[in-house]
Amino acid sequence: KVHPMTDNQSFKLTKHPSPTSPEKRAALMENPGFGKIFSDHMVTMSWNAEQGWHNGEVKARAPFAIDPAAAVLHYAQEIFEGMKAYRTKDGIALFRPEENARRMAMSAERMAMPAIPEKLFIEAVEALVRADADWIPEGDGSLYIRPFMFSSEPFLGVRPASDYIFCVIASPVGAYFKGGYKAVTVWVSDDYTRAAPGGTGAAKCGGNYAASLIAQAEATRNGCDQVVFLDAVEHRWVEELGGMNVFFVMDDNRLVTPPLGGTILPGITRASIIKLAQEAGLTVEEKPYSFEEWRKDAESGKLREAFACGTAAVVAGIGSVRFKDGSFSIGNSGDGEVTARLRANLVGIQRGSVDDAHGWVHVV
Ligand code: PMP
Repeated sequence: KVHPMTDNQSFKLTKHPSPTSPEKRAALMENPGFGKIFSDHMVTMSWNAEQGWHNGEVKARAPFAIDPAAAVLHYAQEIFEGMKAYRTKDGIALFRPEENARRMAMSAERMAMPAIPEKLFIEAVEALVRADADWIPEGDGSLYIRPFMFSSEPFLGVRPASDYIFCVIASPVGAYFKGGYKAVTVWVSDDYTRAAPGGTGAAKCGGNYAASLIAQAEATRNGCDQVVFLDAVEHRWVEELGGMNVFFVMDDNRLVTPPLGGTILPGITRASIIKLAQEAGLTVEEKPYSFEEWRKDAESGKLREAFACGTAAVVAGIGSVRFKDGSFSIGNSGDGEVTARLRANLVGIQRGSVDDAHGWVHVV
């Protein structure tokens, strides 16, 4: 039976028949790490050309049965989002979920997939957060939410598929930095690039991450936390990290960040930091910044701090930079003052201790 997801059709809730016991849940959530443990429920919703989005439901989290010829397994038509639910004094909160909905729609368009109406996307996330509210950690932790969509049509021809599944799962996560903020070390990849002009860099599609893994592994081998990608054409301009955008703090009250030109992911943390920095009196320049400038400015002291930002870590100072022929450090190699201030402001807004002047906090 088909239930179309019209404006007044909400997600049908079927509670997990045997949810995790409170004792077991508490034990799992004591030291959750990142993305390893999962809540009891999931949201699913289907799409085909005749019916559009239909059969949206919240039910017990369980494996999918998909055909071995499902298009996603062959041609990687898959997109996703990443966001968090927090406990605040006002209740359960999401941070700018309409931005995730918008980016999901942009990713869908690039990957020739059906868009999910913004309202339906937010309703799906809210439905899961409500069903699994007990899985939102207290304190510094949060419930990481992973909406995603993939092509399920069994067909080996290369063209956009005719059937899709949308799903939302959730994973309680601890504080990214345990025992205080620590600046990260990054590896600048010389051999690999992430995204070329005209490619999929601005879309949050699984394939981008598959392509980045070898470079991330190289970073790890070289003792670094994260990989930094340079542009694919000149191999000269700094683009972003494997899973975070990057900012440079200059000595003249200026913040520099690479511009959104289709090859980097338009981060929601990035957009929020730009706004908060401008309001704090910093000049923000979205302009290309080369690896050579980075190195020279770090050595001369013109570059005071650098940081990476994204949903998972929020804001992480970059202490040192390694590459094939050497390394350099930034500022005092630790967490810079501007970095710490911007982070405190953003985290404060997300957690409800700083006034939400922009209406970014979405109470569920
Ligand atoms: N760049 C990449 C490649 C990412 O995967 C992410 C994480 N979504 C980001 C930047 C940061 O985006 P956001 O601030 O929206 O999490």
